[in-house]
Amino acid sequence: MTVRTRFAPSPTGFLHVGGARTALFSYLFAKKHHGTFILRIEDTDLERSTPEAVQAILDGMAWLGLTCDEGPFYQTQRFDRYYAVIEQWLKTGHAYRCYCSKERLDALREAQMEAKEKPRYDHCCRDLDAIGQNRPFVVRFKNPLTGAVVIDDAVHGQVVFANSELDDLIIARTDGTPTYNFTVVVDDADMAITHVIRGDDHLNNTPRQINMLHALGAKIPIYAHLPMILGDDGKKLSKRHGAVSVMEYYDQGFLPEALLNYLVRLGWSHGDQEIFSMTEMQAYFDLDHLSKSAAAFNTEKLAWLNQHYLKTNDPQVMLPLLRAQLVELNVDLSHGAELRAIYDLLKERVKTLKEMAEKARFFFEIPDSTLVQQLLSAKIDGAALTALKALYQALIAIDTEAWQETALQDCLERVLLEHQLKLGKVGPAIRIMVAGDNNGLPIYALLLTLGRSATLGRLESALNTAGSLVA
Ligand code: GLU
Repeated sequence: MTVRTRFAPSPTGFLHVGGARTALFSYLFAKKHHGTFILRIEDTDLERSTPEAVQAILDGMAWLGLTCDEGPFYQTQRFDRYYAVIEQWLKTGHAYRCYCSKERLDALREAQMEAKEKPRYDHCCRDLDAIGQNRPFVVRFKNPLTGAVVIDDAVHGQVVFANSELDDLIIARTDGTPTYNFTVVVDDADMAITHVIRGDDHLNNTPRQINMLHALGAKIPIYAHLPMILGDDGKKLSKRHGAVSVMEYYDQGFLPEALLNYLVRLGWSHGDQEIFSMTEMQAYFDLDHLSKSAAAFNTEKLAWLNQHYLKTNDPQVMLPLLRAQLVELNVDLSHGAELRAIYDLLKERVKTLKEMAEKARFFFEIPDSTLVQQLLSAKIDGAALTALKALYQALIAIDTEAWQETALQDCLERVLLEHQLKLGKVGPAIRIMVAGDNNGLPIYALLLTLGRSATLGRLESALNTAGSLVA
């Protein structure tokens, strides 16, 4: 059997992390079995589907690298096929026209509710030979009246639904348009889907869909219904918990590797392993180790993984991403320090590319002099100022070629020794003068990365006005 999986989002908003996890699991399962991963856009709800939402899904999938082997297919382009099946089922008796008015159905529902019964259609038109009636109708699927549907779900185990509990589902509305559960079935059958991996909010739809698949004479796929993703407080994941849209993670400077690695562990495990390359995910992923319980989204862990990839990814590949984040901050990159050196200096010290860009800003922008003086006033006294002035003079003597970490270190150590001061006494002041912030970066690497000219220029202007701070 060739494995065929699909991701079938309804384009009514952005691609959220729950959808991305469903897509990832479907993708991995197909890859692992050298099968086919299909993208199907379920856009038949014309009122709620938008082209922007379709684009958001495509962008999210592209950013995550979850490339489909077939598709994207659009359900709105398959209406003829749905109409044909409806016609065929009306002929074969798998479906029937229902002429019940809205008033009748409302009254029926009310009566059932009052009698504390589950509201459902009473089969009034099921055996009516009413073709040719000149009244509006919907088309209903003739669900079996007896027996049960047994689902061997890869996550939930065996789940049984009695057919007597299932309604005769509407498959075409009065305007003839097909409904959601029906189009899913036609597509899963036509696309020969072997494994349906989706959120467990669809578990209740599954017995209806299986009955319709039988009516089509299609093979029943294996189902895996994934538990929901919750926020860290155990409630349904929502905006309150932070970003829920995949592309928001991109904006915040997360890497797709980190998000995928994070998502693969939400409801699936492979021993104690936490870090997975895409190749490992594809090799290890299976449906046997899916968890039944809802997974809580943990932003800290995602940040930890992101930092891991920032540290280990090829910096050359990361630089355009850092550049894009800096551009997003309106930083003028036409002059300033070398991006590669900045990346190497900061990669161990930040969790996201956005944070890196924020921390890197000062390499391109001269710190605000008022702020520098204000911060400096708390960090220097007369002795430190004298030493810093001497340091400035000593640094001038180092020419561009000699501007290396060891030379900077020798120079600073010599000055400190002469002035009987410890690095802790001047380090914060140096950082403030060159970076506008006591940012904790190692001094020599900081001055090296900033470069000779910017370092000296910034030290000079800060020291020129610093005299008044210690007077
Ligand atoms: N279109 C459905 C949704 O976005 C998914 C349908 C399915 O996976 O069967 O929730």
